Amino acid sequence: MDYQGRQRRLQSQLAPQRLDGLLIIHPPNIRYLCGFTGSAGAIVVTESKSLFFTDGRYKEQAGVEVKGARIVVARKSPLAAAGEWLAENAKKLGVKTLGIEAEHLSVADRSRLAMALSSGLRLRSAPPLIEQARMIKDGDEIDRLRAAVLVGASLFDAVLKAMRPGVKEAEVAAKVEYAARRAGAEGMSFDTIIASGPRSALPHGRASEAAIPANGFVVCDFGVILAGYCSDMTRTVRVGRPGPEARRIYAAVRDAQQAAVETVRAGISAGAVDRSARKILQNRHLGKYFTHSTGHGVGLEIHEAPRLAAGQEDVLQPGMVITIEPGAYIPGVGGVRIEDMVVVTEHGCQVLTPTEKELITI
Ligand code: ZN
Ligand code: ZN
Repeated sequence: MDYQGRQRRLQSQLAPQRLDGLLIIHPPNIRYLCGFTGSAGAIVVTESKSLFFTDGRYKEQAGVEVKGARIVVARKSPLAAAGEWLAENAKKLGVKTLGIEAEHLSVADRSRLAMALSSGLRLRSAPPLIEQARMIKDGDEIDRLRAAVLVGASLFDAVLKAMRPGVKEAEVAAKVEYAARRAGAEGMSFDTIIASGPRSALPHGRASEAAIPANGFVVCDFGVILAGYCSDMTRTVRVGRPGPEARRIYAAVRDAQQAAVETVRAGISAGAVDRSARKILQNRHLGKYFTHSTGHGVGLEIHEAPRLAAGQEDVLQPGMVITIEPGAYIPGVGGVRIEDMVVVTEHGCQVLTPTEKELITI
């Protein structure tokens, strides 16, 4: 990972934003910038300096992991230490306006910066420069995402093995998560969703104590974290023989997902990809049952920019890694979702998820 390059790029963006420095506390942004994987850290980046603050618990880990920034191990919280450093050095370095991550900095955090503020430093909510950089994955990141997707997809076997009428959803999820650990995952990238029967109509139906019914859809949405990067996939399986209406719903979601995948290419807007999936479901009279967006970026976080939703004008660029996951959820009856991860390329996309999408009946 080119941590130094990432920090230099950020430094070059400060002046155009009329910022003299940036204070970063969001752990995925810290990891992206310098490689630190711990939970207590803060980075101050100015045009010429890059400092990483942590506390004594992370001294050794920071020494091994942090690249491209000077490490300051403090006796107080990293944020208070950063504030103190700024109070002492801001004037000397000509730092008057400091950009903060307003979405992540709590009111309590702000008071930890009191000392810096008393020295005349101004805080300003900074645009999401790091989140924007993180949208486009470099080669190393794509390799890691690809590896995470393959481990994630290998868990589908565990899903199919565990799934049968009468078994609790939570039991299926437990087997998936056990298989994930055994396959080398650091953890799950989100709470495993195993939503069966009428619960499959809940787009975020976390695995519950409910038993898999003898007949119905089961939405299975799961992912792992591998080397810091997340995977995310959904397959919907059918327990018992599907009737014509169930087949029709599955085929519509399958076609919508395929259409959206085929729409993805560099230069097209995120909203246009969403529209292509939505149009198919609308034509099949299922539009009103597609109640969420078509996809999202994935990387160090399970949900990151861009969002593939109606009206989103973000333009897709080569190297973005996104999910394509339309669904249809009929209250009281059941739902279907199919989700793959893809990398945007100049003329299309490459689907990373290797798993079949035809309806599997159990
Ligand atoms: Zn998912
Ligand atoms: Zn997703």
